[in-house]
Amino acid sequence: MKPKAIRGMNDVLPEDTFRWAHIERVVREVIESYGYREIRLPILEHTELFRRSIGEVTDIVEKEMYTFDDRNGESLTLRPEATAGMVRAGISNGLLHNQRQKLWTVGPMFRYEKPQKGRYRQFHQFDVEAMGYTGPDIDAELIIMCARLWQRLGLSRLTLEINSLGTAETRTRYREELVGYFSTVKNQLDEDSIRRLGQNPLRILDSKNPEMQQLIAAAPLMLDYLDAESAEHFDAVKGFLDSAGVPFTVNPRLVRGLDYYSRTVFEWLTDALGSQGAVCSGGRYDGLVEKLGGKATPAIGWAMGIERLVGLFDACGGLIPDAAPDVYIVAVGDKALAAAFGIAESLRDESPSISPELNLGGGSFKAQLKRADKSGASYAVILGDNEVASGRVGLKPLRSTEDQSEVAVADLSAELQKRLAVIS
Ligand code: ATP
Ligand code: MG
Repeated sequence: MKPKAIRGMNDVLPEDTFRWAHIERVVREVIESYGYREIRLPILEHTELFRRSIGEVTDIVEKEMYTFDDRNGESLTLRPEATAGMVRAGISNGLLHNQRQKLWTVGPMFRYEKPQKGRYRQFHQFDVEAMGYTGPDIDAELIIMCARLWQRLGLSRLTLEINSLGTAETRTRYREELVGYFSTVKNQLDEDSIRRLGQNPLRILDSKNPEMQQLIAAAPLMLDYLDAESAEHFDAVKGFLDSAGVPFTVNPRLVRGLDYYSRTVFEWLTDALGSQGAVCSGGRYDGLVEKLGGKATPAIGWAMGIERLVGLFDACGGLIPDAAPDVYIVAVGDKALAAAFGIAESLRDESPSISPELNLGGGSFKAQLKRADKSGASYAVILGDNEVASGRVGLKPLRSTEDQSEVAVADLSAELQKRLAVIS
């Protein structure tokens, strides 16, 4: 029987990694240009960290975590998201003592979800967090940074939705209203929602069940219960977005699937990926650092799904930089192959920008030239035993109608640099 990968966990194959790497490079550059610094975190954390931060009554903690006991009987969990680990690292490394932090990380996340296009059990996120900033300027800048990213990647078909969840006190008042409302329609609620009504009624608003959507649409709106300071904060965020020319819509029903959010929440959505439309989601979480045992520290961040980003890049006809080698070295015969190693390495020494690929595994002249063509290289450098003796090699253009010529080995690097500069 052939070995199989775990359901919902994908290999990213060479034909895709080039696009991934390009996109990751651009995202990294943009994030760093806004002053964020990279942090690398473990993939495993204590289960308790996620229970306390994401919240007990959430889809993630209730049914999506990969949790197991290690050999010592400690409960560990493969991270389903990055914010909890970021905050944990901020606290455990003393990064938040009288200083502000702008941090980013990237890597795999794990959720036991129903696998489908754009939704996997191992997926990848870029994650950006700013800690120690009260906002609303940072809220706006984090969102504007995404718009910059879309522009740099050549992406379109993205819309921005924002909302404010107010403070903990706001939500206490709103929760009462919500319980009141949903209790009157309790007989129409699904099983999950009935359970949530008692434990965490806000979560009902996050239900993905189509049958619940009409009831949710008629529920009271958080924005109507916003405290004055949160309303002011929200207005300022909207004002900064306007100034930066980033269009948005206010979606008063956007609550996000994790418990730790307060005030600003937002989602970048696309219509290009079917029902898995959220490309980047985030929000403010002013209470989380303290809740996890740190000094009270305001914070805000977002997470971006790389699989969905790549999908959108493709849907937008994204330009993929060329992965082909510049030169393919055809070497027929033992002496030629030995000489070719020297030529390939001196090409790398003399012009690091040129990427030569050496034919490996032998083959006839014809077979090697076929591989050269398939590699996508612009030129083939051709060596047989005769060429080795004469100190000259054949230079065959593979992508143009120019004639093949002969070049002295000593001049090869300069000649290739000249010709490749004309192409690029
Ligand atoms: P969704 O509503 O699609 O379930 P979410 O609200 O659970 O998304 P977050 O937890 O905020 O998403 O994660 C941030 C981003 O990570 C999402 O906007 C999405 O791009 C991506 N993402 C989340 N879950 C998955 C998954 N299972 N597979 C692929 N990407 C995902
Ligand atoms: Mg989800």
